[in-house]
Amino acid sequence: MASVDLENVTKRFGRTEVIKGIDLTIENGRLTVFVGPSGCGKSTLLRLIAGLEEVTSGKIHIGDENVTDWPPAERGVAMVFQSYALYPHMKVFDNMAFGLKISRTKRNEIEERVRHAARILRIEPLLNHKPGELSGGQRQRVAIGRAIVREPKVFLFDEPLSNLDASLRVQMRLELASLQRELDATMVYVTHDQTEAMTLGHTIVVLNEGRVEQVGTPLEVYRNPANRFVAGFIGSPE
Ligand code: ADP
Ligand code: MG
Repeated sequence: MASVDLENVTKRFGRTEVIKGIDLTIENGRLTVFVGPSGCGKSTLLRLIAGLEEVTSGKIHIGDENVTDWPPAERGVAMVFQSYALYPHMKVFDNMAFGLKISRTKRNEIEERVRHAARILRIEPLLNHKPGELSGGQRQRVAIGRAIVREPKVFLFDEPLSNLDASLRVQMRLELASLQRELDATMVYVTHDQTEAMTLGHTIVVLNEGRVEQVGTPLEVYRNPANRFVAGFIGSPE
């Protein structure tokens, strides 16, 4: 697992600057939540860390490596999206193994990693099923399993639970938190939902219009909002 350092990172799409000079350290072995209103740049920031977008300026380090110009596959990150993006014609096992097969991991190693992840996520009995036969929560576990088997240095989650109904969302949130502890993983989790951010994050990063408004524990941000925006957004007394 590794920390992530952003150094004065900016991103423009055409003439619009959507990430406006972000300096941030994401701690190793912690669950960091990016929270902010829709359109503030959360997904873009995550995609910059993943290498799915190129920075316009600035640097990104993962662990000791300056990965700013590295392709996604070499960064050691795994991303989980809200749309599960599972292959419908493949069994759960093969969906989870897919990324490893193309990276030429040995067969028994693949088998071992997939079974281990399936055990952690309690989806072992589903390995021979197709995604169409699974519930929303089970599909989301498969998508998370696909990330786990790659043994990434950093997990990136982009609103992974927003398609689930409220009670399942609460349950999956608890599961993610215990997964993080079990793997001692560095996780970055994006949400526009304040409650989710406050209950899930060790550290929360409040974003607004491409800038970091505040970084702190949920309690720090709640008790001492840095400005009116944070106070209003988190809903704490100013
Ligand atoms: P969030 O995830 O916080 O809702 P995004 O990172 O998706 O926000 O988007 C931030 C801003 O960047 C929005 O104004 C969005 O329209 C814009 N944006 C995102 N991706 C692109 C793109 N590929 N091309 C042009 N504009 C984009
Ligand atoms: Mg988004």
